[in-house]
Amino acid sequence: MDITQIVEDIAGAMARETERGKVADYIAPLAAIAPERFGMAVVLRDGSVHVAGDAEEPFSIQSISKVFALTLAIGAVGDQLWTRVGREPSGSAFNSIVQLESERGRPRNPFINAGAIVVTDVLLGHLEPREAIGQMLRFVRELASDETIRIDEEVARAEQETGFTNMALANYMRAFGTVRGDVAKVLGTYFHFCALSMSCRQLAMAGRYLMDGGRVEGRRFVTERRARRINALMMSCGHYDNSGDFAYRIGLPGKSGVGGGILCVAPGIASIAVWSPGLNGNGNSQLGQMALERLVYQTGWSVFEPKFS
Ligand code: GLN
Repeated sequence: MDITQIVEDIAGAMARETERGKVADYIAPLAAIAPERFGMAVVLRDGSVHVAGDAEEPFSIQSISKVFALTLAIGAVGDQLWTRVGREPSGSAFNSIVQLESERGRPRNPFINAGAIVVTDVLLGHLEPREAIGQMLRFVRELASDETIRIDEEVARAEQETGFTNMALANYMRAFGTVRGDVAKVLGTYFHFCALSMSCRQLAMAGRYLMDGGRVEGRRFVTERRARRINALMMSCGHYDNSGDFAYRIGLPGKSGVGGGILCVAPGIASIAVWSPGLNGNGNSQLGQMALERLVYQTGWSVFEPKFS
């Protein structure tokens, strides 16, 4: 199977698509991104990297950072995390507030905004915001073996200035005690995580630990069991109220962000990142999903595909 060719063919097909979705416009730095952009990177278990399109261009990973934050929080407090956040798909929008009242301030899962805010609060249980942001940056740089990854301060500032719904979520959870620390510090940290700027290549490299049972180049970052469980959460909750459809069409653990990126894992086979800024109605990359659908169709990488070898 010629993965380089497949990735190039997909990028070519995506360049011809006219229905590209709608670029996020709640902050100026995201609204300014051209909808024509498309990048894709596939890292195989043998270490080979296959890229096409704008795969080297950094973009705002936004909610994909929730995967890395969850990994750090599980590392810090283990299964105790699950006393404060659930593991069920939400069936509602990424920034929905309605479930929180009936479920007494405990978010459905760590991949919706409310859940990631709690995860951030957990990290701040033993770190100052500056330390937690530094830890996150070091973590993704190590995962990706790339010291050039950075946080876009302009994006972080814009998130802060417009993040009224996130403020409402955090304050509401503070009232229930699921968020315990200083709300402003928790949000400031969360916004910096969202503002991580990475290219498809860097993101696919950073996802290798989920492809390879928690290890990268022989070095262990999480246990095999935790890697498996993070993948399970990505499959069931990685695309908000679009998660069922993503599993149906693509059949791989994945996590999207409103910057138009998707990190996707074929366990034991590949770590994949796609980026196209136009979003569907659920806030997930329109062409990113289409590209992944083509990739699994051509490779048979869906976890639901029988592997008889
Ligand atoms: N920064 C965005 C927010 O908090 C992230 C959401 C997303 O990527 N879906 O609203």
